[in-house]
Amino acid sequence: MPETTAAERIAALGYDYGARAREHLADCNLCGTSGRAVEVARRDRYGYPATLLVCERCGLGYLSPRLSASDYAHFYDGVYRPLVTAYHGRRIDAETVQREQREYGAELAAFLGPLLPSSTETILDVGGSTGVVAGVLAERLDARATVLDPSPDELAAARSAGMETVAGFAEDFDPGERDWDLVLLCQTIDHLRDVRGTLAALRRMTAPGGHAFVDIVDVDIVLRRTGAIEHVVKIDHPFYLTRPTAAAFFAVAGYSIVAERVSADGHRGFVLAPGARSEPDWHGLGVAGTRFLAGVRALRTHRPA
Ligand SMILES: [Zn+2]
Repeated sequence: MPETTAAERIAALGYDYGARAREHLADCNLCGTSGRAVEVARRDRYGYPATLLVCERCGLGYLSPRLSASDYAHFYDGVYRPLVTAYHGRRIDAETVQREQREYGAELAAFLGPLLPSSTETILDVGGSTGVVAGVLAERLDARATVLDPSPDELAAARSAGMETVAGFAEDFDPGERDWDLVLLCQTIDHLRDVRGTLAALRRMTAPGGHAFVDIVDVDIVLRRTGAIEHVVKIDHPFYLTRPTAAAFFAVAGYSIVAERVSADGHRGFVLAPGARSEPDWHGLGVAGTRFLAGVRALRTHRPA
């Protein structure tokens, strides 16, 4: 690539985020509270005017305003991959993503293999793209894979690899009586527009005695690593989770945490088992949220203006 800065490459894309992000979130997606969110960033890592709010009651971070559903569809149809390519200064497309997913899938299979019962026969990968991760796991676990994804092009690749495919979003998918032994939500939760609704849907699709695997970008870890909240915020992530807020989302959905791991890139993965829904410790979440906000401010004062 020629000698250009990330800012120049991003500007050349001509994407006007500020003109498109108009949808305000009235309520916190985790605790349902309105009017208790504080603004912690006005700009994202690409330089776009993205506003990050953190709920004072529960510590959940989220963009507001943000893109509407149709603007997100437009964003993923032709803006997202060129944007991350411009940001990193290296090619990121369907081919490089598949290579990364093969590595991710192999690592995940090595982690999940010893934890799952031998009766794991069916896998559903929600947001499973071209089915690379589902395929690696299906082979490792000797299971049948189904891929749910909104992109017809990516599903065509999964279908040609012999997998069952379903076009759509998890929030809208109605599987009827059907459920799966292992339900995956890999590197996807931060991109969702409704975390609570998606996890409720995931819970319905998880067989009794089955498991789910969900990973988050742990904002506590990434903030420590990057040193400024503006490096953490990106318009492709409507939501910003930590270990406490993720655990609270799982409790509300009716999942208990069976095992977890932190990968080198700051993803925190959880193996979940279906159980009873429970009320999170809202006071403890508020304390963790206050600590997070203090951490953001402390980094700001230690940085030259
Ligand atoms: Zn909240």
